[in-house]
Amino acid sequence: MKDFERFWAIYPKKLSKLDAIKAWGQMKKEHNFDTDKAIAVIGIQSKTKGWTKEGGQYIPHAGSWLRAGGWENVVETVKETVAVSRICRTEGCNNIWTSNYLCAGCLKKSRGY
Ligand SMILES: [Zn+2]
Repeated sequence: MKDFERFWAIYPKKLSKLDAIKAWGQMKKEHNFDTDKAIAVIGIQSKTKGWTKEGGQYIPHAGSWLRAGGWENVVETVKETVAVSRICRTEGCNNIWTSNYLCAGCLKKSRGY
């Protein structure tokens, strides 16, 4: 299980390894499981706020993460990244910009009406 070892090496919470191995095998057998994608998702997800806060205590065990289909999370993660990069550049404004990196409200203000 070379691919599992690659996954395990970067998974930030190293608890219940035997259960994680079981889940890994299960996913490969029963689902359209893309091991490279799972490893890529963990690389991104392990850096998200939800996982790094408070010493990583909210990180699920790898087995639970696998069974819950955590490896399908990449779409959400990518969306999050896009959303952040689309925040209006006015300081303190958290709206999504519509053009010129400004939201509709700030755009109006910048044009003076
Ligand atoms: Zn704005």
